[in-house]
Amino acid sequence: MDGANHFIGGAFDPGLGTRTGPVYNPATGEVAYQLHYADRATLDRVCEVACKAGRDWGNSSHARRIGVIFKMRELVIRDTDILAELVGKENGKTLDDAKGEIGRGLEALEFAAAEPHVTKGEFTRNVGGNIDMFSFRQPVGIVACIAPFNFPVMVPLAMTAMAVATGNAVILKPSERVPGAAAHLSKLWTEAGLPDGVWSVVNGDKEIVDAILEHPAIGAISFVGSTGVGEYIYQKGTSHNKRVASYTGGKNHMIVMPDADLDQAASAFVSAGFGSASQRCMAVSVAVVVGEDTANTLREKVVALIGRLKVGSYDTKGADFGPVVTAAAKKSVNDAIERAVQEGGELVVDGRDLKVEGFEGGYFCGPSLVDNVTMDMHLWQEEIFGPVRAFMRAKDLDEALDIVNAHEFGNGAAIFTRSGYASQRFANEVEAGMIGVNVPIPIPVGYHNFGGLRRSKFGDAHMFGPDAARFYTKMKTVSHRWPDPESVDQGLSMSFPSNS
Ligand code: NAD
Repeated sequence: MDGANHFIGGAFDPGLGTRTGPVYNPATGEVAYQLHYADRATLDRVCEVACKAGRDWGNSSHARRIGVIFKMRELVIRDTDILAELVGKENGKTLDDAKGEIGRGLEALEFAAAEPHVTKGEFTRNVGGNIDMFSFRQPVGIVACIAPFNFPVMVPLAMTAMAVATGNAVILKPSERVPGAAAHLSKLWTEAGLPDGVWSVVNGDKEIVDAILEHPAIGAISFVGSTGVGEYIYQKGTSHNKRVASYTGGKNHMIVMPDADLDQAASAFVSAGFGSASQRCMAVSVAVVVGEDTANTLREKVVALIGRLKVGSYDTKGADFGPVVTAAAKKSVNDAIERAVQEGGELVVDGRDLKVEGFEGGYFCGPSLVDNVTMDMHLWQEEIFGPVRAFMRAKDLDEALDIVNAHEFGNGAAIFTRSGYASQRFANEVEAGMIGVNVPIPIPVGYHNFGGLRRSKFGDAHMFGPDAARFYTKMKTVSHRWPDPESVDQGLSMSFPSNS
């Protein structure tokens, strides 16, 4: 089976490693297949192939590279159903949700087609006597992208589209829990005309990630995943003199002001809070509601909407969300609920006993809601990657902002209000990289920059937008003089050259 293998030199390949790991269907809890894990010797082979192929690719014309990007976009659209099925089976999210992420992944390809515009250089004539100066960008060389389980198509496309377009050879290390979509993307890149070796996939866990972090041929690493791992990757990768961008965990707050449209706020909280079984880095985790009356009314509306949610397998008609990804993830959700109750939270909706008929072995968690959460509670302090959401109460916007800004994460934040003053203050003062005003999941479109603040991001790059092109290219600046062959030599000058 293709998905069980790495993708090296344009072909599926089990590699040289001897370790394997199970890939589960989270809706049934059954092992679907065993995945080959790569070792250092396999990575050496991949880098050898990538180095050669990348050199030619990096020297190819922009038109050629952009042609491949255009074709890849067409093929991803053509194979949306196939990709969505692979995502649903391994990640657990519903087919509609999977198609949504594929659509957002296309934006990365669309913006990558603008690569020549974003990377074109600068030129100044006569910076000194008859000297012109220009700067230009070249691909880094070999870049590695290490992906999480929660967006098996969108995140790999977001990380790799611009890397390919700018002329790099790319090594993707997908999450070992969801490798199927990456295998299919490999076939599509080949069909799109990408030369063999420019795109590789290596599967595995920490062992292969450590090999990537240390490999001298790899110049840049883009990582998306949890904060502890992202911080480690940033520190170790940069200590090996690689450029590293780590996009990490979140705890996204949604402030609801008394003047907000509370129906709109309630549906935003439930859809952005529980969609994908809350396994989104931009999921709303906490509603910070201003005023007791606002909180009580909003809570009533939220509870009514939660009551209508249907949990099922990825392909169950009408299911709103599926299982969490592993048995361990389910346990951590249940433990977080238990602890929240012990610490004084009010468990308003308890989803722990959910049974999904026909899927008794699956990792399903029903939606849970805890009210009266406070900043000393584990449920507020930690990112809980599963469907338990929190309500907090604040007396005014100042207090609400203090709560949001006290958190160590700063990925996204939203405010629901009809007040221009409140929304403007929020955007100015909130410590989050991606901000929504009456928008619950403010993921920027592919031509803007994506990335959080504080411990939600390590490094100063952004994943999409013009920053992505800068991250995957290195700049050179050339001082250029062509003296008149007939002119007389000025002789030796030992002073530091000045241009005046
Ligand atoms: P994870 O950190 O467990 O895994 C991410 C990648 O790192 C995987 O490829 C995995 O194989 C590898 N990895 C895991 N443990 C490692 C270790 N000890 N050493 C080296 N490599 C290791 O993350 P996940 O559970 O797959 O994804 C969920 C997390 O990702 C959440 O925290 C979520 O917020 C975050 N996320 C962030 C963004 C963002 O843009 N900021 C987007 C999506 C997901």
